Order: sequence, then structure tokens, then C-alpha cells
Amino acid sequence: MEISMTQNTDIKNMYCTQLGISEQVYNYSEKILAGLMERFKDIDDTAEYNQMKVIGAMQKNRVAEMHLSGTSGYGYNDDGRDTLEQVYADIFKTEAALVRPQIMCGTHALNIALSANLRPGDELLSPVGKPYDTMDEIIGIRPSKGSLAEYGVTYRQVDLLPDGGFDYENIKKAINNRTKLVTIQRSKGYASRPTLSVEKIGELIAFIKNIKPDVICMVDNCYGEFVERIEPSEAGADMVVGSLIKNPGGGLAPCGGYIAGTAECVEQAAYRLSSPGLGKEVGATLGVNKEFYQGLFLAPTVVAGALKGAIFAANAYEGLGFRVIPDGKEPRYDIIQAVELKSAEGLIAFCKGIQSAAPVDSFVTPEPWAMPGYDDDVIMAAGAFVQGSSIELSADGPLREPYAAYFQGGLTWYHAKLGIIMSMQKMYEAGLISVE
Ligand SMILES: *Cc1c(COP(=O)(O)O)cnc(C)c1O
Repeated sequence: MEISMTQNTDIKNMYCTQLGISEQVYNYSEKILAGLMERFKDIDDTAEYNQMKVIGAMQKNRVAEMHLSGTSGYGYNDDGRDTLEQVYADIFKTEAALVRPQIMCGTHALNIALSANLRPGDELLSPVGKPYDTMDEIIGIRPSKGSLAEYGVTYRQVDLLPDGGFDYENIKKAINNRTKLVTIQRSKGYASRPTLSVEKIGELIAFIKNIKPDVICMVDNCYGEFVERIEPSEAGADMVVGSLIKNPGGGLAPCGGYIAGTAECVEQAAYRLSSPGLGKEVGATLGVNKEFYQGLFLAPTVVAGALKGAIFAANAYEGLGFRVIPDGKEPRYDIIQAVELKSAEGLIAFCKGIQSAAPVDSFVTPEPWAMPGYDDDVIMAAGAFVQGSSIELSADGPLREPYAAYFQGGLTWYHAKLGIIMSMQKMYEAGLISVE
């Protein structure tokens, strides 16, 4: 007993002496955390389940040492790459997958998936409201060079109901003989809507397929991988799409994206990514195979740490009187936590805290800036080993009402914890919160 008391005092000293956290902020944090241990246990159980899923898929596909090195040039016969794609397909329970460093980011993966599977005259439907900001230009919601609109693909959107539910009546009306592909975004992204559970996505897909069985249902799976025990591809999705510098890269993948789905959808995507005639056969992996495998291996536990961070942030900021989405008690379907900070000063202080908790670039000060693909100025905090990686501890938010910070990631739970405590410290120093 005495020993553990001393050890806890040691930890407190690390925060309060070494890292500049005031005792009030630290004590408040510990009080909040004491109430979260049961939920953390559930998260650890899901991580254990998903860890076994990943190891099982690697063993089934006989992942071997030779798969960890890569090819150059055309990348013909890259067994490491081809085996990894089969591992992804098994984890997502799909026929095929495309997992490549040549997919530059999540937006690129989505663009490939959409433009590969749509043809002039087809219509794209989003039954879950406006998609992620960077999709505006892919679709042509905002006129853009090379958009789907320029290629004669039209777009229809049905917003979620005020309570966050699906507007089934209008979805039914929106589906017509040109509707070829339905895009469903799992995560809330930069919107104050709820994130969809895999179960809810499954209900939506069943409804849509009942009206039009041959429509392709694609899920933007960004930030959702390994949060639950099943993925949307197990609930009827024909394609799931995401970024490797988010959840499934486990923090180690230096770039890349994936598309997992039916053999037909993935083949189309491969021809679009490389070239008609070439498809999946080309694409050197250079040196990234080891990071892709090892990152995937670590992803379930990394996601668990990020989830704990999100839940801690929700409960801590809720206790300080801020609106948080999801709230402190809600179940989680992605790793994003939105905290509405009520003012530009609040949003900036929050991001400064996240930045100053980082292992890399802790000394820089984040400033709001115009970002390609986004409408408003955005402030971003990240001290990441991989540029822009948002499975690493990061926060960002557009400078607009209600000044929500979208907080996510943390390669370890302890780092996520420090980031949140540091954000509160900066708010405290700016006189924006009271923890007495
Ligand atoms: C991050 C994200 C994207 C885009 O991914 P980038 O890697 O930033 O291009 C698309 N959709 C959602 C829901 C996301 O969270």
C-alpha cells in the first residue's frame, strides 16, 4: 500500500514538476479517470478480440519474413504486397483488397473507389447528409477540376433527420434507375452529427438493397477500423475505404490507403489506381511492407488507447461545462471526439495544449490557416512522427461556430492522457476554465 502511494506520488510529480501541469488540473483529471475504469475494461476486451482477428489473418496467410521486404520498379510479383492484401481481405471479410503506398491518403482512396466504379450518366447518393469536406471537390458539390460532375456523374443527398436517424422515406424517393453507388460515411468527420455504428450502417444497407439490389454500397470507414468487433463489410457493404495514416496503419504506416470489397469493385479500383490493363499487378512497395504489417498488427491496441483518450476528453470537458460529441456516456463508433470550445480562443488554447504534449515539435505554436480542400481556416495541432497522421495524437478544427475541436489519436493511452491534461492546462492558464 505504502509503495503504491509513493509510486502514484512519483507519477504526479512527473506531471506537475516535470511537465508543468498545475496541481488543480492534475487532481481534476484523476478524479474523472477514477470513474472510467469499467469502460476502459470493455475497450481492452474489444482490442483483445481484434488482436486475435489480426494475428489469425496473418497466420492463415502464412505471413513470412520474406514478405517484409519490398520490390522496386514495376513491382511485379511482390508477394509481401499481395499477401498483405489478402490479410486485409480476411480481416474485413471481403473477397479482395487493395492496400498500397501509392494511395496517398483517405481522400485519394475515396476518389479511386468512386471514380473507378461510376460511369458517365450514373448517379451517386449520400443518404447520410453532406460527406466529409474533401469529398465536395471529388463529387463536384463545389466545382472542381476533374470532379465526378465534370465526367457526367450526378449527385443526390438525403440529410439525416434532426434526431440523427435515417430519412428512409426520402432515401427511397432518391433512389432511381441511375443510382449506381451509395456512399455512407461511418464517422462524423467535421460535422456535429452522430457517428454510425456498424449495426446502423447494416440496417441502412439492407433497406437500400431491398429497393435496388445491384446498387454498390461503399462505406467511408476512416477512423472506424477496429473500434468495434465487426466492420461495415460484414454488414453488407460492397466496399470499405480508409487511410493508413489513421487506424489500420497503427501509427507505423508512413503513407497509404486501402479499399477492401467485392472482387469486382476492387478490380475496378486497381485499374483506376494504376492503369487499364495493369491493375493490381504493378506497384512497387519499396520499403514499406514491414511498416504496413507491423502497423496493422499494432492497430487494435493503438485504437484502444485512442478510444480511452476520447472518452477521457469527453468526460473531462463535459465536467467543465462544454458540449462534447459523443457525450461522456455514449457508446463509441469511431475515435473522434468533438469538444465545442465556444470561442476561437478556446479552440486555439486546446490545440496549443495538444501540440505542447507532443514528442515531436512540442515547441511550435499552431496557428489557424487556409487548407486545401476545406472551406474555413483550420487550426491543426500535431506533433507526429508521420506528417499529418491522425492516429497519432492530434486535434484540429475549423474556425467557425461552435468552435469545435476534433480530437483524435494517441499511439499510447498515456500520451493521449497527457495531451488532454495539457489542453486543460492551457485553457486554465488562459482563464477559460475553472477547476478549483
Ligand atoms: C480523414 C477522413 C477522410 C480523408 O482522409 P485524408 O487522409 O485526410 O485525405 C475522409 N473521410 C473521413 C470521414 C475522414 O475522417
